[in-house]
Amino acid sequence: MNPLYDRLFGAHEGKSTPFLLLPSGKVLHHGDFLKMAAQFAHVLTRAGLQPGDRLAAQVEKSPQGLALYAACVQAGVVFLPLNTAYTHDELEYFVENSGAKLMVCDGATEEDLRPMAESLGAQLMTLNGDGTGSLPDAAQTQPVTFQTAERTENDLAALLYTSGTTGRSKGAMLTQANLLSNAETLVEYWRFTAQDVLIHALPIFHTHGLFVATNVTLLAGGAMIFLPKFDPDTIIARLPEATTMMGVPTFYTRLLEDTRFDRDLARHMRLFISGSAPLLAETHIRFEDRTGHRILERYGMTETNMSTSNPYEGDRRAGTVGVPLPGVELKVTDPDTDEELPRGEVGQIEVRGPNVFKGYWQMPEKTAAELRADGFFITGDLGVQDEDGYVTIVGRNKDLIISGGYNIYPKEIELVLDGQPGVLESAVIGVPHKDFGETAVAAIVPEKDQTPATEQLLSACVEQLARFKHPRKIITVDALPRNTMGKVQKNLLREAYKGLFV
Ligand code: ATP
Ligand code: MG
Repeated sequence: MNPLYDRLFGAHEGKSTPFLLLPSGKVLHHGDFLKMAAQFAHVLTRAGLQPGDRLAAQVEKSPQGLALYAACVQAGVVFLPLNTAYTHDELEYFVENSGAKLMVCDGATEEDLRPMAESLGAQLMTLNGDGTGSLPDAAQTQPVTFQTAERTENDLAALLYTSGTTGRSKGAMLTQANLLSNAETLVEYWRFTAQDVLIHALPIFHTHGLFVATNVTLLAGGAMIFLPKFDPDTIIARLPEATTMMGVPTFYTRLLEDTRFDRDLARHMRLFISGSAPLLAETHIRFEDRTGHRILERYGMTETNMSTSNPYEGDRRAGTVGVPLPGVELKVTDPDTDEELPRGEVGQIEVRGPNVFKGYWQMPEKTAAELRADGFFITGDLGVQDEDGYVTIVGRNKDLIISGGYNIYPKEIELVLDGQPGVLESAVIGVPHKDFGETAVAAIVPEKDQTPATEQLLSACVEQLARFKHPRKIITVDALPRNTMGKVQKNLLREAYKGLFV
């Protein structure tokens, strides 16, 4: 028994149904994909990897890169995908922290990484973006079937590191049941079937592209237009073949910038899904005006897979992340007392369900602090749930500003600033203040060739916000600091401006 392999992959063995539609026009069928995965699984086993061992992979997105995930599941090896942007030093942390036995990297970084891998006792193999490398070379002579390793639902399937937006990335231990239960829920909730063709332009080292998009497609038996990266020209060219798309908000804002993206092009699509970062209500509305489609926004994280979603049928509410998914319990609690708050009040979001991870890898204290004994996980996000159950995320707990005893939610100020002419985006942070403890400071990025006047922005805040929420300073910057997943790193802004008022 190996529930995750059997359901996602094994069910398609020998099938000649299309799985990956590649940029070249080539189609990789389910059966052929699984033969490749089986050959890779033999290579892993021959390298001495046993069920439960970790394999760290920093590889470009390719069908072979995805087959490596399937191979790990089949061989019972814990898959640890790594962001392609990580540097040597960052990789060293992940390989050392995870105790990976094998590291798979691109040929271009092999020389640089070999001494580090050797010193950490990890073997090193290569897999390039074009599908060549020492791993596929070794796989060529291997049998195309593999005796699937025995695994139970509680065994680890993946060690997925968080994006590192608020600090150092943590390894989330995800079991087979975590991944499988969430895929089952999402297939049903979003009505995925074998007829679906999903535009897949997300990376495959993150929960969004790897688990949400790929596992859902595999479980439903559908196909993916598998693109190496987000490129509007390619998306627009391939959209007529697709039925669904999953993306981060910037995918949708960038498509809206292109006049070719219109109602006619999106006519036969049945669903656009957004997540990983907040989708502005304005984008939601513009998207509907342009295409007639209401983007379905959902909310999740590395540790919990997906937790809430707007409904497939029914009201998709702009600016909200929808309601808890079937089987997921969600509550909003007071961060000071841990007591559950009534609907309509802002507090910390906690979730419980089969989707919630087993804990942080080798961080028992952090696990104990965030994963309660009763199974509720404290997500670190602040939000509010309305009478109908719809959840709105107001920001991260770590980004909350407490000024003179009052709570300030940065998002409230950001929405005002973003709405001003000439402002592309903004980030509001709390910095130490000698009288108030903390005070709000805003960083704004102007739109191209615009220079919005600070006084004007401040007077918009004065008009719309209580006095204690007014930013004490508005700083114009060229760009906001973002991590490799494109998320704004407020900790870096806080560090940069910490001395302004002390
Ligand atoms: P780290 O935990 O290392 O600081 P991270 O939290 O950014 O990094 P991920 O697990 O990739 O790492 O991201 C999950 C977070 O992304 C959530 O906790 C939430 O803050 C944010 N997020 C995801 N989906 C949405 C959404 N639809 N709207 C707003 N925020 C979202
Ligand atoms: Mg996080």
